[in-house]
Amino acid sequence: MQPLPVTETLRVLKRTYLEAHCSLRFRDPWELLVATILSAQCTDVQVNKVTPAFFQKFPDVQGVATARLASIETLVRSTGFYKNKAKAIKGSAQCIVEVYDDKVPDTMEELLTLPGVARKTANVLLGAAFGKVDGIVVDTHVGRIVRRFGWTKATDPKKIEVDLMRLLPRRAWVAFSHRLIQHGRAVCKAPTPVCSQCPLQKKCPRIEVGKWK
Ligand code: SF4
Repeated sequence: MQPLPVTETLRVLKRTYLEAHCSLRFRDPWELLVATILSAQCTDVQVNKVTPAFFQKFPDVQGVATARLASIETLVRSTGFYKNKAKAIKGSAQCIVEVYDDKVPDTMEELLTLPGVARKTANVLLGAAFGKVDGIVVDTHVGRIVRRFGWTKATDPKKIEVDLMRLLPRRAWVAFSHRLIQHGRAVCKAPTPVCSQCPLQKKCPRIEVGKWK
């Protein structure tokens, strides 16, 4: 079967998920960075439950940079993988204080120097906190769904992002990820999509390659 046609698919996604946006709550780029680190392997709903207490205890980046690791771990424990996440949050805070004058940097190159920050997190930051478009957020929803669309065969998020950047117009990059993530939560689920309720079902090749969950 042919891959889903790009223009028509973007149109259907826009119509279906017009209001899709970043569902992590944040007041500034630092808060979004922390929330995005916590969101790995965790729902945005759970992250949004944890971050208010975190920012009450640590209202600024300097406080996190000098905090005891154990204090950070306690606050983020319920998001899973809390030791790694606490280390990434503290390491990022130290780097921001020491290198970037207490401000979260706003370029891909600089964001990637922060511990625990890869392209996905950097793309979230650039798009939602700085209004900049440098790439496409590829999380497990996006990867799984574009493979079902027949738009890529890759399993590596970086390769998937490259394939999508070649395929999609730049103006669509930020909204596309938000809409696809919503589509993945609502309809094109893992491990089994609810194709009978999908507005793309007539032309979707539903290709399953590899072991996306
Ligand atoms: S839900 Fe089914 S028809 Fe819709 S995009 Fe996913 S695999 Fe295709």
